[in-house]
Amino acid sequence: MPQHTSPVTLSVVTPMYNEREAVDHFVARLRPVLDGLGVTYEVVAVDDGSRDATVARLMQLREEWAQLRVISLRRNVGHQTALRAGLHSARGEYVVSIDADLQDPPEVIGEMLGAAREQDVHVVYGVRSDRSTDTVFKRSTAGVYYRVMRRLVGPWVNDQAGDFRLMSRTVVDVLNNLPEQNPVYRLVVPSLGFSSAEVAYVRAERVAGETKYPLSKMIKLTLDSVTSFSAAPLKIATWLGVFAFVLCVGLIIAGLIAWGSGTVVPGWTSLYIAVLLLGGVQLICLGLLGEYIGRIYAATQNRPPFLIALDTDTRKDNEPAEFASPSVR
Ligand code: UDP
Ligand code: MG
Repeated sequence: MPQHTSPVTLSVVTPMYNEREAVDHFVARLRPVLDGLGVTYEVVAVDDGSRDATVARLMQLREEWAQLRVISLRRNVGHQTALRAGLHSARGEYVVSIDADLQDPPEVIGEMLGAAREQDVHVVYGVRSDRSTDTVFKRSTAGVYYRVMRRLVGPWVNDQAGDFRLMSRTVVDVLNNLPEQNPVYRLVVPSLGFSSAEVAYVRAERVAGETKYPLSKMIKLTLDSVTSFSAAPLKIATWLGVFAFVLCVGLIIAGLIAWGSGTVVPGWTSLYIAVLLLGGVQLICLGLLGEYIGRIYAATQNRPPFLIALDTDTRKDNEPAEFASPSVR
C-alpha cells in the first residue's frame, strides 16, 4: 500500500488538551498494546496548549518510554487542528488517530492494522457500535450533526465514525497537502474516496477529567463542517428574501384596498412586526455571508494554523527534559 518504506510502521497521534488526569491511564493501557503488535511505532502526543501539567507529565513518561514523542503547540488551537499538527509530524507508514481519554479503546488498534494489511485498504474506520456511555445531550446533538452532514457531504459519511481511525501514508500525505484552513477530518477523509474497512468498537466512558468539547467548540466544529462542504446556507438568504418580498406585495395590496374602501389600516402592531421580522432575517443572512467571507479572509491571510513550540524528536540529547530551547517551526 504505502509507496515508500518508513522506519516507523505505525504512528499513533493523540491530541491532548488539559489531560493531566487521563494521561497516565492512557499510557498504561496503550503501551502494552503497541509493544505487543511487533511493529516499529511512535506515539505522537500533541499537547494542544494545555494549561495544566500535561506536558510535564508526558516528559516524565517519556523517560521510560522512548517511543513516546511529545509535540507541544504554542496555544490551544482545538482538537481538529491539533490532530492536523500530529498528522504533519507523524512518520509512520500507517497513522492512527485516537483520543487521550480512553473512550476509544487502544486494543482496537491491532485490529485496525490487521484489517488494513489483510484487506489492503487505505483507511480503517473505528465505528461506534454502542454510544450509551455518552450523555443524552451528546448523542442527540451528534445525531443531528451527522444527519445534516450526510445530506451535505454524501452518504459515505458514517454517522458512527468519529476521529478514531487508521490511515495509510498515502492518505496522510494527501491530507497534509490540502490547502484547507480548518479541515474536519471525519468528513474530509471519507469524501476522498480511498478504499476502506470498518472495525466496530464500544465507546467507553472518559477515564478521568472533564470533556474538552464545550458547546462553543461543538458549534465551531459544526460551522466548519457545514461551510467547508456546502454553500447551501447562502441560498437560504435568497429564499427568505423572495418570501419576504411576496409577503410585502400582499401587504401593499391589502393596504391599498383598505385605503380605497376608507377603512383605516390598524397601524403599529403590523408595522413593527414587519420591521423586526425583516431586520432579523437580514441580520441572519448577513451573518451567514459573514461565515463564508470570514473563511475566505482567513484563507487569504494564510497564517499557520498551529505553531510547534517543542518536538522531542528534534531535541538534542544533552538538553534538559524541560523545553529550555524549544525548536520553532
Ligand atoms: N482536545 C484537544 N483540544 C481541544 C479539545 C479537545 O486536543 O481544544 C482533545 C482532548 O484532549 C481529547 C480529544 O481531543 O483527547 C477529544 O476531546 P474530548 O474527549 O474532551 O471530547 P468528547 O469525547 O467529549 O467529544
Ligand atoms: Mg472524549
